[in-house]
Amino acid sequence: MSKILTIGEILVEIVATNRGNGFREAVPLIGPFPSGAPAIFIDQVGKLGQDCAIISRVGDDDFGWVNINRLTEDGVDVSGIEIVPQGTTGSAFVRYREDGSRAFVFNIRHSACGEIELSDKTLTLIDTCTHMHVMGTALYAPSVVKSILTAVERIKAAGGTVSFDPNLRPEILDSPGMREALQTVLSVTDLFMPSGEELFLFAEAKTEKEAVAELLAKGIKAIVIKRGEKGSSYFDKTTQIDLEGYKVEEVDPTGAGDCFGATFVTFWLKGMHPAEALRYANASGARAVTKAGPMEGASTQAELDALIKAQGQA
Ligand code: ATP
Ligand code: MG
Repeated sequence: MSKILTIGEILVEIVATNRGNGFREAVPLIGPFPSGAPAIFIDQVGKLGQDCAIISRVGDDDFGWVNINRLTEDGVDVSGIEIVPQGTTGSAFVRYREDGSRAFVFNIRHSACGEIELSDKTLTLIDTCTHMHVMGTALYAPSVVKSILTAVERIKAAGGTVSFDPNLRPEILDSPGMREALQTVLSVTDLFMPSGEELFLFAEAKTEKEAVAELLAKGIKAIVIKRGEKGSSYFDKTTQIDLEGYKVEEVDPTGAGDCFGATFVTFWLKGMHPAEALRYANASGARAVTKAGPMEGASTQAELDALIKAQGQA
């Protein structure tokens, strides 16, 4: 039996209901929505009925409980979430600008999940897991990096696998130790899932085809590239599969990449043909953007089947 693990930030997201430039005036808000890229990822894995767990920290406050309750409801093992009595759960305030870009106010580094140290309990949990998913966003503090690298090492040593979504834009690469941590993770990655320019973060090559070949030559078994509304592609040493995106109405793009990744990893680990797993992942990313709130668009397999059937690609 496989069990998927991730480690990283848990937060709530609070979203301005009108567009504009940031938060220097009072604006109407909606939330709190459960959030944090690793949390969204693992919630989608749980919704597909796959055994899974997250290691993180929250405060003993409503923002923490809104996450714990949702993850529990969706089938995620939350025993690795430490509830810090005097802590405050992380948060992100988000407002869309007229051009679709986003302004954020974050409280992560100084929130409960700003530090994640492993304990005997979480080390035992790690040893029950067979696959580790690393979210680049989670490499925000030295203690979290250390916990992630420990989990990666233990799971690989026991014969498990690692997937890696860099999930970062090149401009935030400059925090101390970030590049080294990313390189270490990449060197043990089985499945690499970049979007856009992230493919070129670790390659010398300047074209997509060459960058893919270069990374596969380094020992990565498979690469999945996310292309937003245009869909996605899968590559391994002998195969390339390109799928178009599903036609949906985009309400809130946050969380699409996380739901997409969770769905691909879940079905790939079950041994499903990559073309099938990619189709499900495409459907999952597409459904995710149709709902307001980052985790609200996570899907069950029946919901993915319905979208695939409705658009004639079953
Ligand atoms: P994130 O902002 O969550 O980090 P990402 O850049 O990692 O996103 P995207 O490429 O935006 O990931 O989205 C992941 C997948 O979701 C896409 O490859 C596609 O399959 C699907 N998807 C995303 N946006 C749309 C859309 N507007 N219409 C249809 N499918 C979409
Ligand atoms: Mg992403």
